[in-house]
Amino acid sequence: MNAEEFSRQLQQMYERAANLYGRTSVPIRQEPELAADSLEELRIALEELHVAEEEMLAQNEALASARMELEIERRRYYELFDFAPDGYIVTDALGIIREANRAAARMLNVSQQFLVGKPLLNFIPPSRRRVFRLQLQQLQKIDQLQEWEVQISPRHSVDFDAALTVGAIHDINNQLIGWRWLMRDITKRKQSELQLRKAELQNLQLQEAARLKSHFLAVMSHELRSPLNAIIGFSQLLLRYTQQSDKQQNMVQRILTSGKNLLRLIDDILDFSKLEADCLLLKPEEFNLTELVRTTIEEMRSLSDQKNLTLTMECNLENHQVYNDCNRLRQILVNLTANAIKFTDSGGVEVIVSELPEDRIAIAVKDTGIGIAPTDIENIFKEFRQVSQTLERQYTGAGLGLTICDRLVRLMGGTITAESQLDHGSTFRVELPRRLQAGDQETEAKKLHS
Ligand code: ADP
Repeated sequence: MNAEEFSRQLQQMYERAANLYGRTSVPIRQEPELAADSLEELRIALEELHVAEEEMLAQNEALASARMELEIERRRYYELFDFAPDGYIVTDALGIIREANRAAARMLNVSQQFLVGKPLLNFIPPSRRRVFRLQLQQLQKIDQLQEWEVQISPRHSVDFDAALTVGAIHDINNQLIGWRWLMRDITKRKQSELQLRKAELQNLQLQEAARLKSHFLAVMSHELRSPLNAIIGFSQLLLRYTQQSDKQQNMVQRILTSGKNLLRLIDDILDFSKLEADCLLLKPEEFNLTELVRTTIEEMRSLSDQKNLTLTMECNLENHQVYNDCNRLRQILVNLTANAIKFTDSGGVEVIVSELPEDRIAIAVKDTGIGIAPTDIENIFKEFRQVSQTLERQYTGAGLGLTICDRLVRLMGGTITAESQLDHGSTFRVELPRRLQAGDQETEAKKLHS
């Protein structure tokens, strides 16, 4: 009996009792006390009934509103299920579809109502069904499976890659009664994975090609150095120990200068290929930086003298000791100073060494030369870049010096920057930690190649 029926019957009983009460309220002559007692009891019973009825009605209302809330929730969950962007399917334990949402119907290209009753296996390509069946049997043991990648064969449509997440449904006796399937189309992900793999492969091939190229360059540079050293050595001997006419001497001198230029170029190529192939390791040691700057400048003085330029140094270090690769730091200094002299026609070059906070030092090479235009300055640290790239160049060089400086400085855990103004000179500034850290080289080498 439902609550409405109960209320109706209660109402009838209430009316009948009220009638009875009405009738019996007429004075009774016989046994008046008994009648009065009965009437009182009846009245009490009626009161109780009345209260019970009201309670029942209140409960009824609460029940109806709970039912409504339940229905709203059910609908909400159903809509979540039905409108979810991923395919949701419920199958029985044998894989027969019992429920499917819109996305699943769309993916399988069968309308929702016709999906019910079909085996999920129908949508697996025939060649893969055996494996799918075996996997399904395995599933019974593990209960839950994440991201199971399968191929789905929709009706009258093209196969696609899907990721299935499967969970078991049990009854109250813990017996398996079905499966919940979440199906996601991963075609795009698969395509990007494929592209990524291709790109990785290409990258590896490029890296290998770059390594081979660097190796080849390194070998070639070594092969070139040996005959060149002989040319330079013998022309020095010729100049020093033999008598020649002025013309002959001039010719031998040109052989010597060209030989030295070529050797410098080969050294640069060798260094560059080593840096490219991560083969250049710094050899740190403790040395006096002021001393290094002084001797290097003295070695370069003949060059500045040839152009009538001043070459000075200013050293503001309290502590002159540094821990770094002395030869490589000298190489940086030579490169920057040689450039400064090369690109300056009047005035001079100044090397300033100073201390920076956090135990760092700065070396600035300042010239009064031709300067660099703002548009060119951002490219000068890139390999083979020269500001004037015409073939009839006024200045010699391969455009590798600054690239090598930049990479060496980064390997040392420092930075190199350039400030310049056309026709008003340039300043190249190197900032370095006073002490080379063991990890700097490896992390920098990784960064250079990432
Ligand atoms: P290069 O061996 O050709 O000089 P670098 O890498 O040392 O190669 O320099 C690259 C280019 O940067 C140079 O060709 C030149 O155009 C410019 N450059 C470098 N240093 C200076 C400087 N001190 N003043 C003006 N231009 C400079």
